[in-house]
Amino acid sequence: MAHTDIQNDTSPELSVIVPIYNEEESIKPLCDQLLSVLDELGKPFEVIFVNDGSSDRSMELLRNTAKERGELKIVNFRRNYGQTAATMAGIDHASGEVIIPIDADLQNDPSDIPKLLEKLEEGFDVVSGWRKDRQDAAIRRNFVSRLANRLISKISGVHLHDYGCTLKAYKKDVVKGIRLYGEMHRFIPIYATWMGAKVCEIPVQHHSRQFGQSKYGLERIAKVLLDLMVVKFLDRHLVKPIYVFGGIGLASFCASFLSAIWMFYLKFFDNTSMIETPLPLLVAMTFLVGLMCILLGLLAEMIVRTYFESQGRSPYLVKETVNMENE
Ligand code: UDP
Ligand code: MG
Repeated sequence: MAHTDIQNDTSPELSVIVPIYNEEESIKPLCDQLLSVLDELGKPFEVIFVNDGSSDRSMELLRNTAKERGELKIVNFRRNYGQTAATMAGIDHASGEVIIPIDADLQNDPSDIPKLLEKLEEGFDVVSGWRKDRQDAAIRRNFVSRLANRLISKISGVHLHDYGCTLKAYKKDVVKGIRLYGEMHRFIPIYATWMGAKVCEIPVQHHSRQFGQSKYGLERIAKVLLDLMVVKFLDRHLVKPIYVFGGIGLASFCASFLSAIWMFYLKFFDNTSMIETPLPLLVAMTFLVGLMCILLGLLAEMIVRTYFESQGRSPYLVKETVNMENE
């Protein structure tokens, strides 16, 4: 078969990654749409379906379609691990220069892929889709997500309108080896920017879900916000956690010291007995909190040392070297 030949001769340029959790009705139309767009592009490609522990017929249907085209590949999870893990597995198994995750439920439109690629060719490392005309429940989804997106944009300093859109395109270098946990697949553009990548955003189409149901409820918002805190903390302070913990600890010591001064002032100059005010309690509390924070900071420093040294990681990223051996 011609298509299999292409795949054997050249390694794929594009790797499309599709996380799948109980999407049996969508698989056939999705494959048809994807293949028509990708064949049209004329570049060698692969589509990696990651079956995230579906309990319906998704896997069986995927297996059947994969028999027809060698470019359709499957990673089958033992159980449901979530969209982030599925995305990461897709990235780990991808061999293309460009990596494009897309939803399986046909809410993203494969016909937007060429637009994303054009932007990559302009020199961007990450092109993020923006569901400008989002077709989900107005208040419960769109409104809440708009607020969340604002907040993420503010906290991360990476200004996108829509982090949650799965359809994005990455150059391989910015995502290979990335470690994702929880809901963090949506923060890849943030990581990438922090690592020096050029990121842009373009509007993409969005359709309402035709089959099955959304796999998420409102609890996702809480998870996303907590993950945002983790991401922010790990980025800024991973190398020196004592600066954060120690900073809070020192502030607490200051509060303790000031409360003590005030307490003695009231006692000696105002004739107010120490136990008439809550100040002694404040002195003791803030002193203890300060002490705990500094000890936690020291503990965190030890953990960070283990993290870097046990994995041979370095705290910096090198873009390139010139005239160095072992380039
Ligand atoms: N998904 C997954 N594992 C999960 C939940 C979702 O692989 O545990 C996949 C799902 O099949 C879909 C994509 O992630 O392809 C996005 O999920 P969904 O459409 O439910 O999210 P929404 O569009 O409602 O934000
Ligand atoms: Mg969806």
